[in-house]
Amino acid sequence: MPKLNSDQTVHIEKLLLKGARILDSAHKLDETADILIQKDTIQEISSIPSDTFKGTVLDCAGLVVAPGFCDMHVHLREPGREDKETIETGCAAAAAGGFTAVACMPNTKPPLDNRSLIEFVQERAEYLLTDVHPVAAITKGLKGEELTEMGELAEAGAVAFSDDGRPVFDSDQFRRALEYAGMFNRPIIEHSEELSLAEGGHMNEGFVSTQLGLKGIPPISEDIAVARNVLIAEYVGKPVHIAHVSTAGSVRIIREAKSRGVPVTAETCPHYLIFTDEMVKTFDPNKYKMNPPLRTEADRLALLDGLKDGTIDAIATDHAPHTIDDKDCEFDVAAFGIIGLETSIGSVLSHLVQNGKFKLPKIIELMSVNPRKILGLDPIEIKAGARANLTVFDPKAEWTVDPTQFKSKGRNTPFDGETFTGKAVAVLNKGMVYLGR
Ligand SMILES: [Zn+2]
Repeated sequence: MPKLNSDQTVHIEKLLLKGARILDSAHKLDETADILIQKDTIQEISSIPSDTFKGTVLDCAGLVVAPGFCDMHVHLREPGREDKETIETGCAAAAAGGFTAVACMPNTKPPLDNRSLIEFVQERAEYLLTDVHPVAAITKGLKGEELTEMGELAEAGAVAFSDDGRPVFDSDQFRRALEYAGMFNRPIIEHSEELSLAEGGHMNEGFVSTQLGLKGIPPISEDIAVARNVLIAEYVGKPVHIAHVSTAGSVRIIREAKSRGVPVTAETCPHYLIFTDEMVKTFDPNKYKMNPPLRTEADRLALLDGLKDGTIDAIATDHAPHTIDDKDCEFDVAAFGIIGLETSIGSVLSHLVQNGKFKLPKIIELMSVNPRKILGLDPIEIKAGARANLTVFDPKAEWTVDPTQFKSKGRNTPFDGETFTGKAVAVLNKGMVYLGR
C-alpha cells in the first residue's frame, strides 16, 4: 500500500496498528495488542512483531483504538448551500475529527424529503471514507403540512426522520409521524422547541439576557416541547430521540420518562457541557450563538448528571457551518449555529475526561456505541474477521485549535485558539485509512 502520510487518505492493503490500547465499552474490551488489518477487515489481534511484518505499520503506543465514532447530528448543507459546506468537505472534517460516520439533517435546499435526494446524498459519499447516513424530513418541504413518504425514504436508506431546525408544531401530526416512522423501525429525531415561547429570541432568557438587553429564549420553550414529545411517544409506544438537549428541565423530564419505560433517547452537544450564557457577554455570535442557546451553570451541571446516569445517551455536535457573512454581524441578526466535527473529541477529552469526571469507556459509549444503536446501524466489533471501522485517538496529545486549518468550510467555532488535551489521530473505514495532521 502507499506510504501512510499525515493528512492523507489511502486504501489499506496490509496495515498493522502496533501496541494500541483497544477499548470497546460495548464488548467490555480493554487490552493492549497489535491489530492486523487487510483491506477492510481485521485479520488478527495479538502480538505481531513489526520487524518481520510486510506492510505498513502505524505506531499506536499510548493511543486508544475504539469502535468508529458516529456524530448523529450534523448539517452538511449540500444540496443548496455548498458555499457553507459540501458533503465532501463535511466528510473530510468528520475524518479529521475522528468520526467514521455522520447522520446528516434534511434541512438542505431543497430539503431531503424524497427518494432521489436521499440517493443523491449517498452517491456523493459513496467513495469517501466517512459513512453518511441521511436523516429524511418528517414533512414535505419541512413545511409541517403533509408527511413524507416514510416507507419509501426508509427503503432508500434514511436512518431516521426529523424536521430539525424546526419542531413538528402540530401534536396530531407528531403523533402520526411517530406511528408511521415506527412502522419502519425508524426513530423521530425531534428538535424540541415551543415556537410561541421561543420566537424572536437570540440567547437564553434569564439574568444575562436582561443585563445585555437581548431578547431571550426561555428554557421552558424546550421543556414543554420535550414533555409533549415524550408523552406522545409513550402514548403510541414508538421511539423518539430528543435532539440537542440544553436544559435541566429536559433532563428531568427525560429521566422520569425513561424510569417509566418510555421509548425515549436523547443527545446533547459539547458546547452545552462546557459553556454557559455568560459567554454571550462577548457579543460574539460566531462563537456563542446557537439554537438552543447556551443556558445557565445549573443547566450545564444537570446535563453532566444526565450523561452520567444514562438519561442522555449520546454526544452529537449539531455541526452547523455558516459563511462569514452570516456570522460577522450584530448578535441579534447573526445566524444560529456553530461547527463541531473537528473539535468534538478534543473538547470532550479536555473538559470531561482530563478532570476525571468521565472515563474513556463512557465516552466511547456516548460517541460511538449509543448513537449507532439509536440509528439502528450495525454494531462495530473489534475482533478478527470484523470490518475495520475504527477511531484512533491520543488522550494525552496537546494541540491548539486553528480554524484556518479546518477541513470544514465553517470557521464558526467557540474553541478558536483553545489548547486541548486529547486529539483524533486516525480513522479507518471502508478499506481506507485517514491519518490526521
Ligand atoms: Zn435542531
